Amino acid sequence: MKIGVLGLQGAVDEHIKQITALGLHGITIKHPEQLEQIDGLILPGGESTTISRLINRYGFAAPIKEFSKRKKPIFGTCAGMVLLAKELSASADSHLGLMDICVKRNAFGRQRDSFEAKLDVKGLADPFSAVFIRAPYVESAEAHVEVLATYNEHIVAARQEHLLVSSFHPELTGDTRFLELFVQMVTEYQESELIIS
Ligand code: GLN
Repeated sequence: MKIGVLGLQGAVDEHIKQITALGLHGITIKHPEQLEQIDGLILPGGESTTISRLINRYGFAAPIKEFSKRKKPIFGTCAGMVLLAKELSASADSHLGLMDICVKRNAFGRQRDSFEAKLDVKGLADPFSAVFIRAPYVESAEAHVEVLATYNEHIVAARQEHLLVSSFHPELTGDTRFLELFVQMVTEYQESELIIS
């Protein structure tokens, strides 16, 4: 299994390290053609406006949308969540617009620029220590979006079919369980491909 991390800006190496720690092959994606080589894609945290600008500059928008159309799993962490949202709170713009969620950027305010919280995550037996850095949250989600975790009643992790998002940075801890949830989605995708072909 090969998992790609969009390598334009942000916490790219940290994701690659975690993928490698699971014994999987992590590839830093710098060119759109590389999307062909991977089974799942991670959009890392960083600065969503910058990453979005680079996505457009290097011709990634259409190939990522095509990747998603083929139901290949995509995991957006933090800024990656902002990029995947169909709608952004208090803004007329969205970026890739693939997931039926409305996301509020920098949603926890200045006082709480960065913090750690123990979260109950659907699918994980024990609480997960989540690192939030100028994090967004999901302000509203359509009914078919599955909520995986909340913090102070705000949605901070969710899944819609082949799309997974987290407000926090699972790659910044030694705990690989959240990434394993994504790996499970990629395995499911690979199995469904085997049945079709
Ligand atoms: N606040 C950033 C943004 O909206 C995201 C921060 C992060 O990825 N840690 O781009």
